[in-house]
Amino acid sequence: MRIDLHTHSVASDGTDAPGALVAAAARAGLDVVALTDHDTTRGWAEAEAAVPEHGVALVRGAEISCLAGHLSVHLLSYLHDPTHPGLLAEAERTRTARLDRARRMVDLIAEDLALTWDDVEAQTAPGTTVGRPHIADALAARGHVTDRSAAFATVLAAGSPYYVPHYAPDAARAVRLVREAGGVPVLAHPGALVRGRILTDAAIGRLVDAGLAGIEVDHRDHDDAQRRRLAGLAREAGLLVTGSSDYHGGGKPNLLGERTTSPDVLAAIEEQGRLAVVRP
Ligand code: AMP
Ligand code: ZN
Ligand code: FE
Ligand code: FE
Repeated sequence: MRIDLHTHSVASDGTDAPGALVAAAARAGLDVVALTDHDTTRGWAEAEAAVPEHGVALVRGAEISCLAGHLSVHLLSYLHDPTHPGLLAEAERTRTARLDRARRMVDLIAEDLALTWDDVEAQTAPGTTVGRPHIADALAARGHVTDRSAAFATVLAAGSPYYVPHYAPDAARAVRLVREAGGVPVLAHPGALVRGRILTDAAIGRLVDAGLAGIEVDHRDHDDAQRRRLAGLAREAGLLVTGSSDYHGGGKPNLLGERTTSPDVLAAIEEQGRLAVVRP
């Protein structure tokens, strides 16, 4: 069984439509794929509809933007009720804040480089959770950078003068909300030093106290030392350990199935989650 529990479609900052992502998962030899778009579940229906044709099981999920102090934290939620009012309200608030923040970043960039909001909209499907990757695509279309990775290394980097933060719920609160919604909260890439500062053991411990179910240990942004550290934390706290690609289609080098999760961990996630895995 090959199981990849972290991917993005055009419902957020991936480049595949949700149905095309399920098809790509089948071509990549996966048995199970989770769709985890940023702060939205609007890709679920199309992905579900593609399951019978492609024979890949679907785990319905999302990646919730959170803050722990000033630190940006990503929380994967699996198999939650997508209509839970508390979780839905936070996701909508974050999505609105992301849009506002993207406009402010474009205003700042436009002081130095030819770039308009229309350029960004041209790279963004309607209803999408807008993020820096869409600004990156607009910068590339204008010829200011070669691709998303180049944009993130320069104009869009967290330390860049054009960087603007956005509202997101407190991470411990998000863990509790995911549990209330019947979801299974798994901390996404908590050892990704390439993205900036990371959570301390104590900070992860506070999320465990709030109800965290698991940690994404195997991720391309983790070095061996981080993998060892996080696996140790998970063992001590009795948490589930996942591995995933964080596939974004053509927008990132990450390939479907480049990291995987074991079948027994998936079984535990389904056991704890309110929704079932959608099977062919
Ligand atoms: P945002 O959430 O709008 O701050 O943008 C961060 C998102 O951009 C993350 O979810 C990543 O998936 C994506 N991202 C981060 N670094 C890169 C990169 N070097 N190349 C492409 N996408 C990236
Ligand atoms: Zn993303
Ligand atoms: Fe993430
Ligand atoms: Fe992601």
